[in-house]
Amino acid sequence: DLGVVAQHADRVAVMLAGRVVEQAATSQLFARAEHAYTRGLLGASLNLVDDLHYRGWKLPEIRHVRSDDGSAAFSVIPRAPYSSEDDARREADNAASVDAPLLSLHDVRIDYPQRHGKTTLRAVDGVSLQIAPGETVGLVGESGCGKSTLSKAILRLVPASGGQIRLRGTDLVPLRERELRPLRRHVQMVFQDPYASLNPRRTVGEILDTVLVVNGVSDARRRRTRIAAILDRVGLPGSAQQRFPHEFSGGQRQRIGIARALVLEPDLLICDEPVSALDVSIQAQILNLLVDLKRDLGLAYLFISHDLSVVRYIADRVHVMQAGRIVESGDHREIWRAPQHPYTRTLLDAVPGRKSEDARAA
Ligand code: ADP
Ligand code: MG
Repeated sequence: DLGVVAQHADRVAVMLAGRVVEQAATSQLFARAEHAYTRGLLGASLNLVDDLHYRGWKLPEIRHVRSDDGSAAFSVIPRAPYSSEDDARREADNAASVDAPLLSLHDVRIDYPQRHGKTTLRAVDGVSLQIAPGETVGLVGESGCGKSTLSKAILRLVPASGGQIRLRGTDLVPLRERELRPLRRHVQMVFQDPYASLNPRRTVGEILDTVLVVNGVSDARRRRTRIAAILDRVGLPGSAQQRFPHEFSGGQRQRIGIARALVLEPDLLICDEPVSALDVSIQAQILNLLVDLKRDLGLAYLFISHDLSVVRYIADRVHVMQAGRIVESGDHREIWRAPQHPYTRTLLDAVPGRKSEDARAA
């Protein structure tokens, strides 16, 4: 995490495949990196100063290749502008469809029993928000503020104790499991730790096949075709089907997690800290993939993160959560420029490197 290093270290050494490729005083390294790999890392990391947004820019990526003699090679793919015509149209569509949101939460409350059920902890306390088709809504807030609890309640992995969770107008809260099942495939989840959420005893092909079988895709040939297509779409080779989750790197595992979420062709993906466990170069690859998928498939995202710079890049609208409540909401262009709520300002000030970057900018 370059932001943390910038804030805490006097000197920095950059390591690549077993070798230190560059060493310098922190300020020098961040101002004038010499090695192409260091510059790649700096380019791929997000911050709150550069006004990068997914509608304008694809993030730079570092691609690693290990050559036959064991030495490490890499290439830096620079950031690239996205064409904005489609987006202008899509934004207009989104604006038009606010009347018919894909997902609409109203006054959602979620309680956890505590001390053997004698008391309860209110983890989510009256949250209302809406997501339009094709929109990316960011949800930020400190660890423990209730983000994951809210996302689990949307999938009804935890019960809501009050409020409504409407998917295309149908309130999921009172539905029986049997009534809920056909609606489930429309909303899928991507987790922070794909490894923990993938069955270690099943090959990737079996994992994806099971998802389809359980959801009623009975035609085996149709399942095979869909699995091959989705692996290709997330950038994995067809041979991945025969391999087990532990044979993949962290970034590839997250591609598997995304494939599993997409194989049912949902309209909405809930991404709960999907890049928080990945280093900056892999993080950029996964964010670019999510943006591409959104464009190709018209997906909407609820993108949850404690990392403001990631949400700043990826979200159209942002909600800030504190202690179970939404304390501030805004368009991505406004919320960072002029945060109204003291908590949002506190979050911004807590971003490593931000104060020093402010000073540099000044
Ligand atoms: P976040 O995802 O924002 O870090 P969580 O939704 O995981 O926050 O947690 C919100 C609050 O609910 C925290 O106080 C946490 O300790 C509590 N909590 C989370 N899961 C459970 C659970 N299964 N049982 C009881 N309390 C829980
Ligand atoms: Mg969480």
